[in-house]
Amino acid sequence: MDLGIRGKTAIVCAASKGLGRACAESLAEAGVDLVINARSEGPLQETARAIAEKYGVTVTPVACDITTPEGQAKVLAANPAPDILVTNAGGPPPGLWSDWERADFIKALDANMLTPIALMKATLPAMMARGWGRVVNITSQSVKSPIPVLGLSNSARAGLTGYVAGTSRQVAPSGVTINNLLPGIHATDRAVSLDEAVVKAEGITLQQAQARRAEAIPARRYGKPEEFGAMCAFLCSQHAGFIVGQNILLDGGAVNTTL
Ligand code: NAP
Repeated sequence: MDLGIRGKTAIVCAASKGLGRACAESLAEAGVDLVINARSEGPLQETARAIAEKYGVTVTPVACDITTPEGQAKVLAANPAPDILVTNAGGPPPGLWSDWERADFIKALDANMLTPIALMKATLPAMMARGWGRVVNITSQSVKSPIPVLGLSNSARAGLTGYVAGTSRQVAPSGVTINNLLPGIHATDRAVSLDEAVVKAEGITLQQAQARRAEAIPARRYGKPEEFGAMCAFLCSQHAGFIVGQNILLDGGAVNTTL
């Protein structure tokens, strides 16, 4: 299927590896020129080089922490008016409800709620003026089904979801869509670090921890980053203009709900 977005431009945040990189790759495959971001310069440069070489698009790497105002300004300076915005950042650390203080919540809200909101506020006006735009926010299945040890993530991402629910309907008349992608467990470094925490807590092997987690998923496996990237690119395509304000689970059926 031709996604109809060849020649458009995108900012993809937190994209040197994992789900962000998969989104960048799928957009590049569709012919989109990219600004990609992550904190560590070396891996980011290498990812930019590999994507540009494979797909023949322009990829501009911007190394910075996207959760800071300075980082956001640096990324936006590289493309102040993208057609497509994919927001992403690392998730907050696990813990117990009684551990978290105000400062921990502020940090999580900054990273996983206020950063995507700031990037949307900066980029939506030009998209609306052009009459076309796509925003995809990478959130988590925890928005639909809380993960108790990730209370900071549950809280911050729920806040972003509420903002998107209203804002997406305000910008849709201008041809701009905003949707959220909700990953369940995917085979990335983030999943390895979650599984290593189980290994440490329970004295089992990494293979045992992974097998046990996969067994609890109807699809009986972890998601592949490239499956996630393909859905992201479809949401950014010409074909997805009627999908507005949705929260789309990619979780192999793990969240047991009818709707
Ligand atoms: P990952 O494989 O660890 O990759 C994270 C990427 O984000 C890296 O490129 C990293 O590069 C970059 N990054 C992290 N913090 C950043 C920051 N502050 N500023 C700029 N770049 C940053 O993680 P992932 O699995 O792709 O996860 C992506 C998001 O999905 C996270 O929010 C995670 O919580 C969420 N999620 C993942 C899963 C899963 O199973 N994988 C499930 C549910 C939700 P640098 O370290 O160099 O900055």
